Amino acid sequence: MARKSPRARRKPESPRMPGTGRPRATPGRRTANATRKARSVRGAHAPKGARPVAKRARRPARSPEARRAARVRTRARFAPPDPARVAAVLEILERSYPDATTALRHENPLQLLIATILSAQCTDERVNQTTPALFARYPDAAALAAAPQADLEGMIRSTGFFRNKARAIRECCADIVARYGGDVPRSMEELLTLRGVGRKTANVVLGNAYGIPGIVVDTHVHRLSRRIGLTDESDPVKIEFALMPVVPRERWTAFSHWLILHGRQVCAARKPRCSVCALALHCPRAGVTASQ
Ligand code: SF4
Repeated sequence: MARKSPRARRKPESPRMPGTGRPRATPGRRTANATRKARSVRGAHAPKGARPVAKRARRPARSPEARRAARVRTRARFAPPDPARVAAVLEILERSYPDATTALRHENPLQLLIATILSAQCTDERVNQTTPALFARYPDAAALAAAPQADLEGMIRSTGFFRNKARAIRECCADIVARYGGDVPRSMEELLTLRGVGRKTANVVLGNAYGIPGIVVDTHVHRLSRRIGLTDESDPVKIEFALMPVVPRERWTAFSHWLILHGRQVCAARKPRCSVCALALHCPRAGVTASQ
């Protein structure tokens, strides 16, 4: 008997269905049952030979009440800060920054309002270099409201976004002249009626020009109040309202200054300096992934 070559001796492989471990019942042909099953999975109009698509389990639609309850359950995970811990944090901040106040130079509420508008996306130092000449040429709300747009833009160009800021200053001052006789109003409700003025700007003016307590939620207060575990809110207005019952009212303005200074000097956005931070013992460092 002639010897078979190694290739001829190899057993023929059974054809297999893609994705199955078993050979077909009839090589090269599919049973009627298998064809029905494949068509039902991939859709009746799918091209021949298309891979079956796994069916996705559909989640049942939730009612608005169920969605609201789920939100409440999620929020319930955040425990309100312990008053003793908050008191310790406030005491350390007060000791660390006893002379904290706004860095924006001003002589009256209007100048502070304009400087605050100019400080958006700009350093306080830059604003302080810009405002003396601006207030010398346009000393009151009526003068600023009547200032030519191009001239105003030229004077505040170095603070960035100068076109929008110039328009905001002119429109805001026009409102002050038309509705408040040229004086910056003294209440949150009235300040919010001025064009270009939001809660942050209003709280700066109320707290620093009129001595009416207000929590200013800027980028530092936003970041630190979450890291220190005073709130888990992320919207600035919600943070402000969440901090109100946590911090005593008479310290709202100072508290904002403390957090702003601490954010600049110690608790930096990218790498907070936790190893030298006076608050380290009382801070849960929420959301901090890298520190030095
Ligand atoms: S311990 Fe760290 S995260 Fe907490 S306030 Fe200090 S620097 Fe910021």
